[in-house]
Order: sequence, then C-alpha cells, then structure tokens
Amino acid sequence: MKLKERLKKDFRLWARSLADLFLKRECVCCGRQLEAFESDVCTFCLAELPSSYTWISEESPADKTFWGRTRIEKVTSLFLYNGKYRNLVYSIKYGGNIRLGARLGRMLGEVIAEEDIDFIVPVPLHWRKKRKRGYNQSEEIGRGILLALREKNPGIKMEKRLLKRKDFTPTQTRKDRADRWTNVRDAFRVNLKRAKALTGNGKVPKILICDDVLTTGATLDACASLLHEALDCKISIATLAYVP
Ligand SMILES: [Zn+2]
Repeated sequence: MKLKERLKKDFRLWARSLADLFLKRECVCCGRQLEAFESDVCTFCLAELPSSYTWISEESPADKTFWGRTRIEKVTSLFLYNGKYRNLVYSIKYGGNIRLGARLGRMLGEVIAEEDIDFIVPVPLHWRKKRKRGYNQSEEIGRGILLALREKNPGIKMEKRLLKRKDFTPTQTRKDRADRWTNVRDAFRVNLKRAKALTGNGKVPKILICDDVLTTGATLDACASLLHEALDCKISIATLAYVP
C-alpha cells in the first residue's frame, strides 16, 4: 500500500473511532455497534450474507422469472432478500445510504467480473422522484458495478440517458398481474438518439440493466423489452437482491 493510501486509511479509522465515542454507528442489518474498521454492515452479517448464486446457474429461479417474456442473456443477484438483509435495500433506497449502494454494487460487480458488458443501464427514476430522494439508488449500485467491471474492461460505460421514466407508476396494489405488467411498460421510454449512438459502430452492444431488487421482474422486463424494440442489443440483468 502506498504511503498516501495508508495515511488516508489510518485517518479514516481514527475519525471513525472518534465518531464512535459520540455517535452510535450501528450495523444496518442487525443493529450491533460497529467496530472502527467496519462500515455500514458488521463482519458477521457480511460473512453470513445469503448469497443467491444466481450467476453460476443457467436455470436459476431468477432466470425463470423472464422465461416466456423478454430475451435475457443472464440474470444475476448478489443476495436473497430475506430477514435482516432486507434492511440493506431499505437503507440504500430510503435511508440515503448511497455509499452502501456503491459498495454492494461493487461486490455484485466482482461476482460477474468475467461477463462481457459494454454499457450499464440503471433503471431510471422519474425526475421528480429523483429530485425528492436526491439520488437514484440504481445509479449508485451501477457505479459500484462499473468500478468492478472496469478492472477487466476499461471501455465499459454507464448509460444513464438511454431509458427514461415517463411518469410516476400508479400504485400497483389493486391491479391484477397482467394489468401490472402492461402498466409498468407504459412508464418507460427509450431515448432513440442515445440508442442510435450506442449502435453507431455497427456492433451489437451488450447491456447490463441494474436495479436494487428483483421481485416480479415486471419493471426489468419492461425496460428490457423496450430496449430490444429500439435497438439490436444483448441484455443481461443484475440486481443486489432477489426475492425468493
Ligand atoms: Zn450485523
């Protein structure tokens, strides 16, 4: 480690110890007080992270979500959305914890480091929602994935303007399943100018759509099918969590 990096790390640890004296830094998952060398999640919770292992299985339940719908190359999630681990997503989505978003995004990126991807496309938020929240959690996750994949593929880029959220998606609770899927599709549109730019060199771009959670797959399916209609591309999906 270079001297500058070591000093930076020492300072960070020192600052955290000081912060621990005054503020209680707690594990996002289990609430245990964090040690100075830990951030956001305790070592125990990290070690026990319920990995989904979707990236090593061709026919994982996550893959099957999209069977008979849109053509997806690969579907990957880092962990199973259950128990205390739901707090991770909650903290990133509603707690403003963008640092944790990027960190878990990087862990997700590390497990798919061998994948050949040209563009990372985060699921967009409506601009009004993004302004209210101050960030889009999918972009933060995408930033982490980008860092991990860039080590092998320096040309990889994040493409935030390819997809746009047209309007707030109406509340889904009272709609039946079929309605819900059409409904979500109407909430997005593809920026055709960007789509043209991506395919300009005659190559078929390999796109990774990223999001926080894979539940019914309706949102991700909508994004993927709209992209398939607008441009010749290959699409994979990566989410932090998968709801089993
Ligand atoms: Zn913990």
